[in-house]
Amino acid sequence: MTNTRTTEQWQAADAAHFLHPFTDFKALAGKGSRIITSADNIYLWDSEGRKVLDAMSGLWCVNVGYGQRALVDAAARQMQELPFYNAFFQTATPPAIELAELLAEVTPPQFQHVFFSGSGSEGNDTVVRMVRRYWDLLGQPQRQVIISRHNAYHGSTMAGASLGGMAGMHAQGGLPIPGIVHIEQPYWWQHGRPHGLTRDEFGLVAARWLEDKILELGAEQVAAFIGEPVQGAGGVIIPPATYWPEIQRICDKYGVLVVSDEVICGFGRTGRWFGCETFGFRPDLMTFAKGVTSGYVPLGGVMVGDRVARALIDQGGEFNHGYTYSGHPVACAVALANIRLMQQLDLVAHVHDDVGPYLAQAYATLREHPLVGDAETCGLMGALLLLKDKAKGTPFPEAVDIGMVCRGHCFREGVIMRAVGERMIIAPPLVITRSQIDEMLALIRRCLDLTLADAQRHGWLA
Ligand SMILES: *Cc1c(COP(=O)(O)O)cnc(C)c1O
Repeated sequence: MTNTRTTEQWQAADAAHFLHPFTDFKALAGKGSRIITSADNIYLWDSEGRKVLDAMSGLWCVNVGYGQRALVDAAARQMQELPFYNAFFQTATPPAIELAELLAEVTPPQFQHVFFSGSGSEGNDTVVRMVRRYWDLLGQPQRQVIISRHNAYHGSTMAGASLGGMAGMHAQGGLPIPGIVHIEQPYWWQHGRPHGLTRDEFGLVAARWLEDKILELGAEQVAAFIGEPVQGAGGVIIPPATYWPEIQRICDKYGVLVVSDEVICGFGRTGRWFGCETFGFRPDLMTFAKGVTSGYVPLGGVMVGDRVARALIDQGGEFNHGYTYSGHPVACAVALANIRLMQQLDLVAHVHDDVGPYLAQAYATLREHPLVGDAETCGLMGALLLLKDKAKGTPFPEAVDIGMVCRGHCFREGVIMRAVGERMIIAPPLVITRSQIDEMLALIRRCLDLTLADAQRHGWLA
């Protein structure tokens, strides 16, 4: 497949027929896509034979790295045996049942049930349906409103994008849908530092924006609060340690359900199995996707905590919701192989005790770089804040788009980092080793130096 055409031929056919997600179609067609043809461990190769260190794990998902035989074999075996059967009509398949059982084992104790979807976005659509159904069953149908945060990412379906707080997404397609409101994100650089607050002080202030919103709406209207433990696509915004415990306290006080979107943070990314364990809160529902299969095949779902599960099960009545691929046997077989491999490799401990702290210490050294105003990590997620004047905390003017300049260098130098405004972010595969972190850091440093040279040459620092 991969060697059947030249790069130019692939690019021409791509531009002619393939509309890429979150893409300016015209701009990409003028430039041509990079064609990725193979991968192994933490590396990718493109159609020109160039090797790239994938510091983004594909799209935050390839946690066990590329080329893991156990996942490939699980898929092939299951496709032979039973490629598909649904779970709609009082039927189930062994992989879906076994995965449900294993998920109950690796998630926090309140989770004994799972509802499967095909993706994270669909999982969050399920969250909206399930949360509202829960309050209906409890005789409080007016509890409809779900509170989320600006700059959150919860997917791209109508409900997912509505829960998300991306202004650009809301601007297209008449979003958000009714009954979803947003409070400000817990981003210290934007909302805490300018007011002279310490990070911990700011964490409490930011959490109390939730209480203000609940009181403004009336607690009897508020169904749930949803958040990513660490905002991923928003720029790896790591909240202060005080934030989530205070969110939990407030939700408990008003009876509001807590939903943790663990699509990125779940399955070891933060150094525990789930982000809520790292940040000390106890969600009622938990969305997952990405890392559950390490991205080898699509799968998502919602872990349903006892509080909601008991209402859904005990009150009876049909829940009028589901997907053709809820509990897809091949996807579930791959997820089982993936989670068992994580257990065999003790990957969560590898992140928590070894490569997570190693990355944190490596990132701390980047704070000395003239462009880097801040360097933060949480487990194996990292963010660099690029500033024009780090002493004063002055950002580059938007017209410079310093993140895209840096990303361009990464692309050419053979390392994939993502730019979110002036934040350069990474989330490498969890199997990364210390020496590979050294290799990644050398590439990142080189890209920062090249970006600095650009800034000096163009007078952006003046
Ligand atoms: C990626 C992501 C989603 C959406 O998942 P899809 O599989 O792309 O639909 C939802 N929530 C978070 C936190 C994500 O990072």
